[in-house]
Amino acid sequence: MPQFPGTVPNKLPNTGTTIFARMSALAAGSGAINLSQGFPDFDPDRALVNAVAKAMRSHQNQYAPMPGLPELREALARKIERQYGAAFSPEAEITITAGAAQAIFTAMQAIVREGDEVICLDPAYDCYSPAIRLAGGEPIRIPLNAEADYAMPWDAVKARINGRTRMIVINNPHNPTGAVWSAEDLKMLERLTKGTDIIVLADEVYEHLVFDGKTHQSVLRSPKLAERSMAVYSFGKTYHCTGWKVGYCVAPANLMEAFRRVHQYEVYCVNRPMQVALAEYLENEEAYTGLPAFYQAKRNHFRALMEGSRFKLLPCPGTYFQLADYSAITEEDDDAFALRLTGEHGVAAIPVSGFYRRPEHRHVLRFCFAKSEKTLEQAAERLCKV
Ligand code: PMP
Ligand code: GLN
Repeated sequence: MPQFPGTVPNKLPNTGTTIFARMSALAAGSGAINLSQGFPDFDPDRALVNAVAKAMRSHQNQYAPMPGLPELREALARKIERQYGAAFSPEAEITITAGAAQAIFTAMQAIVREGDEVICLDPAYDCYSPAIRLAGGEPIRIPLNAEADYAMPWDAVKARINGRTRMIVINNPHNPTGAVWSAEDLKMLERLTKGTDIIVLADEVYEHLVFDGKTHQSVLRSPKLAERSMAVYSFGKTYHCTGWKVGYCVAPANLMEAFRRVHQYEVYCVNRPMQVALAEYLENEEAYTGLPAFYQAKRNHFRALMEGSRFKLLPCPGTYFQLADYSAITEEDDDAFALRLTGEHGVAAIPVSGFYRRPEHRHVLRFCFAKSEKTLEQAAERLCKV
């Protein structure tokens, strides 16, 4: 096909260049064990898969209502009330999306205007800045306190808030660092946003992956934050089905109205058979209340296996990502070391500099431990030889 002869306007990087796409392709190409991109190497519960198949066989194959199936939104409203003590209307305040990533893009398109500033953290999940820029806004990246277990830099956030600040993006539990918020962090955000028009985009996709008996400090627990927050979630993380790309957004009615104005044209609605199945499966509370113990055991197993290695594991209070400092092994930057680790040692990991606005090479890699025991054991055996 001859190429389009004009110029193609584009503000964003080339496709295939996200750090996840690059490392997963490299792992696949070299046969390495892939602990890079965050996804489980095991299947969702058979009962959930069977419920999708049943929905498909029983004629649930046409469009769902624009905001999502009512029974799924009702089940979510009950879950949110049980977990966070907050009453959200399934009709007006919950929308089912094509994964959390769509919810993030839709929220940005709905809220951010040309010239707005949006505060986000550094390191941050890779889609925030592109979503802000596409909406015409300017990402203001503020470094987490890497010396203090990636704590929230509240003084710096306070100093950057001004009349152009439209939104603050938070991610708790945090990808890639695994940091989780304390109740005091919620209070700080309450104080900083009080009396402003700032909207909080709360990426809480790892809400169930908080370990060691800690509580997930959702913005939905705080009535003051809930009234200014758009909180996004992902069934992919909770039910081990990242490939289904189903998630949701929770927000007060006036923010959700703005969100749905975009959503109605962007995707109109999301996969119906998955929604039917998820609505049914949500009634099984143990499927998510058991998740902290399930992933905590994987974290502990991986950490124990890595004890004999030269990697220094950083604290991991949440998510399914383990950061490891490799400065005892080499002075190579993390991109170069991640490439060599994949090619020479057969284990793929994510160089954490990929999450920074300007790569900061701190000699840290991210390993995903959402894997079977066998995968973790094989990977750790290789890593202990490095
Ligand atoms: N936010 C964070 C922090 C994530 O790690 C992910 C997972 N890839 C997403 C959003 C996107 O989730 P989804 O796959 O449901 O779009
Ligand atoms: N959230 C996944 C991770 O952090 C990646 C998803 C993607 O490839 N966009 O590894």
